[in-house]
Amino acid sequence: MVIEIEAKENEKTSNIKEKVEKPEKIETCYLCNKKFDMNKDDYSHYKYDKYPMCDYCSQFYGFYDE
Ligand SMILES: [Zn+2]
Repeated sequence: MVIEIEAKENEKTSNIKEKVEKPEKIETCYLCNKKFDMNKDDYSHYKYDKYPMCDYCSQFYGFYDE
């Protein structure tokens, strides 16, 4: 019984950890002014490490490799 409870607690802790590792980071695209989540796993990135660019603009303008 005690072991079962501990396992559940561990599960909870790991779920929380996942959230902390990838929190939402809302930025506004400097090209289209759309708000987007920078930490989402897509092409959004910081142009010149400075200007937030959304997934759509990154693909459309093909600036991802710069
Ligand atoms: Zn954009």
